[in-house]
Amino acid sequence: MLSVSFDDIPVSAWTEAGPILAEHGVKATYYVAGGLSGRRNLGLPQFTTEHLQALCAAGHEVGCHTFEHVSTLALSPTDLRASLERNAAWIADRLDGYRMQTFAYPYGDCALAAKKVIDASFTCARGTLDGVNAGRSDRLNLRAIGLESRRLPSYDLEALLAQTRARRGWLIAYGHDVGDRPTPYGCRPLDLNRLITLAKAIDLDILPVAAAWQRMVARDQF
Ligand SMILES: [Zn+2]
Repeated sequence: MLSVSFDDIPVSAWTEAGPILAEHGVKATYYVAGGLSGRRNLGLPQFTTEHLQALCAAGHEVGCHTFEHVSTLALSPTDLRASLERNAAWIADRLDGYRMQTFAYPYGDCALAAKKVIDASFTCARGTLDGVNAGRSDRLNLRAIGLESRRLPSYDLEALLAQTRARRGWLIAYGHDVGDRPTPYGCRPLDLNRLITLAKAIDLDILPVAAAWQRMVARDQF
């Protein structure tokens, strides 16, 4: 399986990536920090409520990324729990009671004490450690490759996808902005298009993170 995800999220993760996803019939996961809505982050305008409602209506998954977009290394378990609750309430208010099922760690930072808190609220959580999830994997710190201009040149995407298929694994990709001149944390439209095209060429199923996790559990009968 392949999952495609976007973090924070910059406006272009929806306005530029959305049409590419739609063209391929792919549903992605958007990891949202409500506190970033309508603001700027890393120099880029972030999503508005209208973007959020549009991507949810289009069938994409909305996941949690804390409310303030803060590293779990900087939060006590109590403060993390409060941030998750703020984000859950903020999202539910705007998406008709929607409940987020999965989490992505801001900056990829996974504090040991945070895992228990995350486990209580979500089915699984995504980090930013490179690699394919197969065999033994950490459900609370799933591996993911960056759809990021700073990281993409180091990947052999064909090999990663072939490995995913051979090991009956799960490859997760995450990105931020999408455009012809991406930041170091974003990618070009053709990069996203290429990943999806390559995955389809070897018949990987492309599912949002929560749906992929459900399928993994059903398959392996934990
Ligand atoms: Zn983030």
